[in-house]
Amino acid sequence: MTAAETLHAEPEPGTAASPCCGRTLSQLPRYDRIILDPAQVTCGKLSAHEMTLLSGQPVVTDPNHQSTLFTLASTVAMLSGGRVPIVRALDSVSEALRDVLPAGRPLESWSAELMAQVTTKALVLAAR
Ligand SMILES: [Zn+2]
Repeated sequence: MTAAETLHAEPEPGTAASPCCGRTLSQLPRYDRIILDPAQVTCGKLSAHEMTLLSGQPVVTDPNHQSTLFTLASTVAMLSGGRVPIVRALDSVSEALRDVLPAGRPLESWSAELMAQVTTKALVLAAR
């Protein structure tokens, strides 16, 4: 463990300032470092959680999230009568969740109602 080394996010291509604190490389403290993985940024201006919020992705804290997604995808694939392969069903479920879940509201656990909404929406999306 190194002492108090701050990690900043790499500037986007074509920009000079780091997205975490808006400073250029020459403005950053001399011993700070630039890293590629946003999840490891410790600059303090933007946490990984905030990056997720800004990206528009649902914030999920449910520990069973992955297995729930798979179950829903399996259901979509089954309900499609074999027309939708499981991988495509999984994409549709993820997209449907982004549409159904209010922006910025964390998903702490899946309710039966939410699963029904996402499955219905995913079936429509997968049929396109
Ligand atoms: Zn920074």
